[in-house]
Amino acid sequence: DPDTQREAVVAAVEAVAERMAEERRYLTDLDSAIGDADHGGNVTRGFEAAAEQVAEAAEADDDATPADLVKRVGRALISEVGGASGPLYGGSIMSASAELDGGITAETTVAFAEAYLDKLQERGKAELGSKTMVDAVTPAVHTYKKSIEQDDLPPLSALAKAVDAAERGVRFTTPLRAKKGRASYLGWRSVGHQDPGATSTLFVLEELLSVADD
Ligand code: ADP
Ligand code: MG
Ligand code: MG
Repeated sequence: DPDTQREAVVAAVEAVAERMAEERRYLTDLDSAIGDADHGGNVTRGFEAAAEQVAEAAEADDDATPADLVKRVGRALISEVGGASGPLYGGSIMSASAELDGGITAETTVAFAEAYLDKLQERGKAELGSKTMVDAVTPAVHTYKKSIEQDDLPPLSALAKAVDAAERGVRFTTPLRAKKGRASYLGWRSVGHQDPGATSTLFVLEELLSVADD
């Protein structure tokens, strides 16, 4: 029912914000190797603002739908995060939130996931193998879709498989040479380092799974 779904959205964003704060140092260390050492701070600040704003919106407006709340998460990320990751995360979430207009179901979450990946690639122009968050999102989205549409798995099992796929995607970024974002300025020196944005994406998915499990 819509109230349960609204609560689930709030709980999910709060879980993500907490996880980012826990991983802040780790994400910043990854970004210091191939970027400007701010990714942990960027996503922590962004998701904390998003969690606050979404909890407030859910409280203040009984008519706010789950899709409205998700859209607000995207808006908060765009406005709070100056780095590349803010508009990439936020713009993709905002745009994909429209797919949840019919509520949160297996079908609408597949549509959300696909729209998220489309928007991410449209904005950032990164392809699979550019050593970016796309390398975590792509296998996760494809695995989620296939698990639901072809293998007929329940959404929770599909999400668990998507998390595994994202984890492999994150590991796959390490040997790559960056083609997009700050890390690409390093050229071959970016080889041998795990991508920060792909890593934070995995943490988001892990938190969605743990909230969905409750
Ligand atoms: P900035 O690089 O502006 O400091 P962050 O450190 O917060 O921003 O985010 C860096 C992450 O953003 C990278 O690890 C990468 O995953 C992601 N990223 C950067 N540029 C792109 C892009 N064009 N497409 C997809 N992801 C990108
Ligand atoms: Mg950075
Ligand atoms: Mg920066």
